[in-house]
Amino acid sequence: MSITTGRQEIVSELQRAEKFLLTTHENPDGDALGSLLGMHLILDQLGKDTVMFMSANQFPLPYEYQRMPLEKVARELPADLNDRVVVFLDCGNIDRMPVDFLHEAHLHVLNIDHHHDNTRFGDANLVVGHASCTGEILWDLARDLGVELTPELAEALYIALVTDTGKFMFENTTPKAHEMAADLIAAGVQPQEAHRKLYEGLPFARLELLSRALNAVQRHDGGQLTLTHLTREDFKESNAVESDSEGVVDHLRGVEGTVVAGLVRELLEVEGRRKVSLRATDKTVDVSIIARGFGGGGHRQAAGFTTDVPLDELVERLRREISAQL
Ligand code: AMP
Ligand code: MN
Ligand code: MN
Repeated sequence: MSITTGRQEIVSELQRAEKFLLTTHENPDGDALGSLLGMHLILDQLGKDTVMFMSANQFPLPYEYQRMPLEKVARELPADLNDRVVVFLDCGNIDRMPVDFLHEAHLHVLNIDHHHDNTRFGDANLVVGHASCTGEILWDLARDLGVELTPELAEALYIALVTDTGKFMFENTTPKAHEMAADLIAAGVQPQEAHRKLYEGLPFARLELLSRALNAVQRHDGGQLTLTHLTREDFKESNAVESDSEGVVDHLRGVEGTVVAGLVRELLEVEGRRKVSLRATDKTVDVSIIARGFGGGGHRQAAGFTTDVPLDELVERLRREISAQL
């Protein structure tokens, strides 16, 4: 087992194998789904047999991704799983995969990701911490493999890029991220159309949920931690689903004095369990360290975890851990 693998080695693996199973992390975001579809389209051009897989409880997908051509994603593992090379995309650790199929068989696993804290759970691991998104790694791989950037492939990779860079606003917006955008637009992506598909025409429930979140904002330590909490009742009364809370935390980061913005939301399926999303406004606090302390992970400026720690205690721990890093 190798810890980190070079791009050339992954290229050879992709060229060599004939059958693949592609998958990504739970609660998929734009990078997860764009990379899943992108890798499928890349391997398709190479004449490979690929199955995209996500467990049934991940559906319906968040509203903004429902118009992506993902109808072919399988919700059950194929019978010939053992014959397939498994490719994990945008998944920093194996706990983010709701199906424990790695223990079922002696599978060969490729792990392609950009989370610096990726646990390197694959047999081959292409982890590029400085890549803006996993889609950017695929953009490089597509070129190495001599694959044509069709408009469909370009759009899938663009969705990965736009969502993970926060519309080209986060610290991962490198010159290369913009070069990639230029290349994808030249290949047929219409930015305004992509933007409308992702960010407009959304269910009213999102606005309702956001208004509840804004009403519940707490500021701690002079605003250093700006946090909000959404309860199961908030979801119910807004007619919202869990993925409708995506983006709420970004509204909190813009407030003066905020070092870390946080969204704590109660999970609908498990009582007493909460999902926490953390965003750091600059490099002074590394929120991935805090998230790892709770069994989660992520990037320096965007990380998350789920926890059973009661709300009051959770807030106190967050305050302490932020202060300890300042
Ligand atoms: P989120 O707060 O869910 O939008 O996630 C922010 C970042 O943290 C993303 O890059 C996620 O992949 C990562 N992340 C979120 N939850 C977890 C978790 N439980 N374990 C590891 N990484 C996570
Ligand atoms: Mn992701
Ligand atoms: Mn990502």
